[in-house]
Amino acid sequence: MISPFRLLRRQRRRKLLERRMIPEPTWLSALAGLPIFGFLNRDERERLRRLATLFIHEKIFEPAGGMVLDDRMCARIAVLASLPILNLDFDSYGGWRTVVVYPGGFKRPRSEFDDIGIMHEWEDTLTGESWERGPVILSWADVQGSGHCEGYNVVIHEMAHKLDMLNGAADGFPNLHREMSRRAWTEVFTAAFEDFSARVDREEDTPIDPYAAEEPGEFFAVLSEYFFEMPDLVRMEYPAVYGLLAQFYRQDPAARLGSSSATGPLHAGNGRSPQESPQAGHRPLREALADTASGDDHGRVENDQR
Ligand SMILES: [Zn+2]
Repeated sequence: MISPFRLLRRQRRRKLLERRMIPEPTWLSALAGLPIFGFLNRDERERLRRLATLFIHEKIFEPAGGMVLDDRMCARIAVLASLPILNLDFDSYGGWRTVVVYPGGFKRPRSEFDDIGIMHEWEDTLTGESWERGPVILSWADVQGSGHCEGYNVVIHEMAHKLDMLNGAADGFPNLHREMSRRAWTEVFTAAFEDFSARVDREEDTPIDPYAAEEPGEFFAVLSEYFFEMPDLVRMEYPAVYGLLAQFYRQDPAARLGSSSATGPLHAGNGRSPQESPQAGHRPLREALADTASGDDHGRVENDQR
């Protein structure tokens, strides 16, 4: 039996979609020039528009570092974020509210003790970050570089982490659907991660970004990017992983995109943005987060340092 809370939420969303659907010009602008959406059929596009509308109205977009956000930019982020949940429930993105957007890469202070107890401090430049039960942080320059069927998609990457975090840390082992086997997921992803890490250790020129070898959580997020951006590549490199991602996302982008996505160059890092140089005028990341996390983040940081 559906709870009164869920019923109210469903009614509220239905009214929202009746009255405040993303306007046609904004919607077309959000999709424009992005081949990743070019193979969706009419029903899928309409569903995507509804999900993106909910994303815009249920999430809070917060510009940072001198960023100026308009409706079309928010719609672009929302539509990219909605693709992974095209066949899932919007509540898959529950438990967090804020999307912080910087103009480009943003800096984050780091520190670490070495083996003899000396603390080293430095700054990393990040393109995206997700906090468990906290905000998602994005570089707009990297959002613009996403969705071109070139293997890079910072929004899908961070959304994959958000799905992964529904059951705790972003460890590459998200909640699975009832019909899926946790054992199969563990065996397939562990074997693929170990194989990929070994290839990176051998300095093989892998067609998938070596960043996927950082840890299992990154492997899941990076493979999710490629799953939507260059599905044939994932199917060719790690077919069992492709099969499980298709079950997890309830989508088969290789069938959708046809063979056209496999015709592009497959060199490592194809289409992925170079590391952003530090941006002048950025507020320190922690300050931005303190403004936006509403006290609900637990300081668990997942980040990308591309
Ligand atoms: Zn990541």
